[in-house]
Amino acid sequence: MRFLRAHEEKLLNDVKGFLDVREGKTLYEIALEASKRGPCLEIGSYCGKSTIYIGTACRENNGILFSIDHHRGSEEQQPGEEYFDPELFDNEACRADTFKEFRNTVEMAELEDTVVPMVCRSEVAARLWTTPLSLVFIDGGHSYEAAYTDYNSWAGHIIPHGYLLIHDIFKDPEKGGQAPYHIYKMAIASGLFRELPMIQTLGVLRRYACGNIPYNLSKQ
Ligand code: MG
Repeated sequence: MRFLRAHEEKLLNDVKGFLDVREGKTLYEIALEASKRGPCLEIGSYCGKSTIYIGTACRENNGILFSIDHHRGSEEQQPGEEYFDPELFDNEACRADTFKEFRNTVEMAELEDTVVPMVCRSEVAARLWTTPLSLVFIDGGHSYEAAYTDYNSWAGHIIPHGYLLIHDIFKDPEKGGQAPYHIYKMAIASGLFRELPMIQTLGVLRRYACGNIPYNLSKQ
């Protein structure tokens, strides 16, 4: 990819995460356009792989990426679950802790003047949020409740022509959980977003130009 310097490419290979290179490149390209018109925000930073793609694009425009994660791992990353990683478990606290890795990634990628880490649950960060956003990337918890909370808390802050990106969309239930696809369909049904071509499991929606920004979609 044209934007990657050698050390960034190596870093992307080393950083733990579940983002495919094509999906990452799409995040970068969309963020490069979007971040000219306002800050970007991601939910579910984990160890910072998507943060490198979106953050590098924001940096080119002197923009900002807000990056939200409680860094205690999602449901499927807890001990005994499918995606548990003992390397990301804080034995002293007896809890998962991805913040150390995330912080290291941001530093290595030279994104400390671009990325604003927000270490909390997404609905807490959203409670008094009023800043319009040019791009929201949802890649947080995969339960229906978590996905719906992320969608409901943030999609309404997206500016006209801004982007809503949702990771891990599987139209076939045999291939993966349905919560991200569920909120993807909700976003289309809201009438606020236009569907653009999906890149692997990355759903790409663009907000229509019309209408005010409703902060909380359930209160429309
Ligand atoms: Mg994901």
